[in-house]
Amino acid sequence: MNTNVEQSNIPSFIDPHEVGAWGMYLRQVDRTAPYLGSLTRWADTLRHPKRILIVDIPIRLDNGTVTHFEGYRVQHNVSRGPGKGGVRFHPQVSLPEVMALAAWMSTKCAVVNLPFGGAKGGVRIDPRKYSMAELERVTRRYTSEIIQVIGPEQDIPAPDVNTNAQVMSWMMDTYSISKGYSVKAAVTGKPVALGGSLGRVEATGRGIYVIATEAVKTFGMQLKGARIAIQGFGNVGGTAARLFQEAGAKVIAIYDQTGIVYDEQGLDVKALLNYAHEHGGGVKGAPGVTTLKPKEFWSLKTDILIPAALEGQITKDNAGLIRAKLVIEGANGPTTPEADDVLAENGIPVVPDVLANAGGVTVSYFEWVQDLESFFWDENTINHRLEDVMRSAYKAVTQSAAEHHVSLRTAAFILGCTRILEAREVRGLYP
Ligand code: GLU
Repeated sequence: MNTNVEQSNIPSFIDPHEVGAWGMYLRQVDRTAPYLGSLTRWADTLRHPKRILIVDIPIRLDNGTVTHFEGYRVQHNVSRGPGKGGVRFHPQVSLPEVMALAAWMSTKCAVVNLPFGGAKGGVRIDPRKYSMAELERVTRRYTSEIIQVIGPEQDIPAPDVNTNAQVMSWMMDTYSISKGYSVKAAVTGKPVALGGSLGRVEATGRGIYVIATEAVKTFGMQLKGARIAIQGFGNVGGTAARLFQEAGAKVIAIYDQTGIVYDEQGLDVKALLNYAHEHGGGVKGAPGVTTLKPKEFWSLKTDILIPAALEGQITKDNAGLIRAKLVIEGANGPTTPEADDVLAENGIPVVPDVLANAGGVTVSYFEWVQDLESFFWDENTINHRLEDVMRSAYKAVTQSAAEHHVSLRTAAFILGCTRILEAREVRGLYP
């Protein structure tokens, strides 16, 4: 990943050679700044996260020994409202990564015009190596360590990679115990039984699907019969794959952390989801499919390629292989700025993460609103409102791209950063 960024935008405690995803985000801001007009003078706000918390999480393991994990919560910007963003459990979680993910949340919430800032959390842990009881203790201790900076008015966590409704329940419970009463709006992505929203689990995948229905119109394509390849088969990639298949598209390849499966005629997504569910979450070993190597996956001739796993997957090394007609980003930060340039040169449009995967946080917003009002909506209402939000954001981003003659990513950044900096400017500088 690129390390060619302004030294002053890298906090002193981060090794400039290990700047990772934060470097990607800074490059994206640099590409946006020339289009911000008079707000450019506030652009440095975007390059400096508001608050960074690093916590130690000591846990007693089931075998009686004690081990320590490192946890983070970063609030990138809160000019437009409380911080909002998920919590990730992953062995490679790092501070620069969480900083970038928090910044992408600020941008995303502003692109779809939610009254939130951006935040993100993470614990450096491989959750597959620990029991449920150990993961519960990690979650509760992590929540307790960041409790001073979170809350319904301050910063609202949610699920992300390797966290789910159960983890959110433990977070909500830990937060509520510290207050002495139930605080449903403290966390989103909870089970419905605990004040979670209908439609939240599939919201990110559904949002990608809605964006795809719009994007195919823009680029003169059709979803029916479209050949789709997806990297990631978790909550986001798995739901999107199912919705695409239900709409008559052909999901020809799926690439998850266990392997890659391929069928020229289209995979049976439901059977694969069942298989993955029964075999520890992965597609490896699924019957009746061909397996591919990563290089072969990226080179597939497809209509739509959907990276829905982790950041930094499409780089200058594999971007040149891509022969999709359209890339829609389900993950956060899957495409590096260098890869963006290669795809642009090859005429492949990219619908960026901060627009395409905003369905999850949008229904998180609906969940927060429902919890604050203790008045719950039916699933139809939620899905319709989600579609409205995604469609208007898509329209606004494509208009911004046409107006400024820029990529959809830069257009989305112009829209999001303008909203953030307008709020920042009218609030003024304290003191
Ligand atoms: N983790 C999701 C994202 O990256 C959802 C965040 C949320 O719902 O707050 O957008």
